[in-house]
Amino acid sequence: MRVTAVQQLAVVLVGLAGVFGLLIGSFLNVVVYRVPAGLSVVRPASACPSCGHEIRGVDNIPVVSWLVLRAACRDCGSRISARYPLVEAATGVLFAVVAAVVIARTGAGSVATVSVSLVAMLYLMAITVALALIDLDTHRLPDAIVLPAYVVLLVLLAVCSATTGDWSALLRGVIGMLVLAVGYFALAVAVPGGMGMGDVKLAGVLGLVLAYLGWGPLAVGAFGGFALGAIFAIGLVAARRARRGSGIPFGPWMLAGAWVGILAGDGIWSAYLGLIGLT
Ligand SMILES: [Zn+2]
Repeated sequence: MRVTAVQQLAVVLVGLAGVFGLLIGSFLNVVVYRVPAGLSVVRPASACPSCGHEIRGVDNIPVVSWLVLRAACRDCGSRISARYPLVEAATGVLFAVVAAVVIARTGAGSVATVSVSLVAMLYLMAITVALALIDLDTHRLPDAIVLPAYVVLLVLLAVCSATTGDWSALLRGVIGMLVLAVGYFALAVAVPGGMGMGDVKLAGVLGLVLAYLGWGPLAVGAFGGFALGAIFAIGLVAARRARRGSGIPFGPWMLAGAWVGILAGDGIWSAYLGLIGLT
């Protein structure tokens, strides 16, 4: 099989997205720590939480520095959690996967369509990693991250529609945004102590992107969160690790379900329709 120049370029782009993901992952470690505390994500520069020494540039290389320093601060020797390099590595892998899927899907379109789709999806992946970790840490989904996502994604998806001329996708996205936000709001009101308002606000963001991609991704993405959360909860109860109602945040499941919808929603949806005999 001959590998074409376009395919080679795609591989280079996916690799670059992975490296970019490592750097963004490093920044997300700062976001996850500072945003819930109401601190600036740009100032001051990162410092060791034990001795307060500012972290040198050479010790701030994603994953590599942690390995070179053998998980210990250069100044005071206190341990650096493995969570930092793991978040960096995971973000790198996730960025590469997202880039591969976006390029495979939109590669036949214009450079503008591929670029803006890539920016939109990598942005969504970055806030996904941040929100999932913050929700696990603090049981909150900060407005400081969720609310700007509406503006950023509406603008990027509108630009994407401008490059393809497919404005119906944007209309569908806005409908999906309203459907999920209203649906989650109804759930939050009907089942007190279940969903929080943070979940409701996040649901609108996810509904926008899922429905922009299609009704199949919206259905799979919306249901996927409940399915994944339920499977995990049943597993925990079965393993006697948790009692029913013990505080597992729902945000990470919503986000994971949404990504199943984004990456595989069309395929899962048509398989499902085939299964129930509708195609
Ligand atoms: Zn230190």
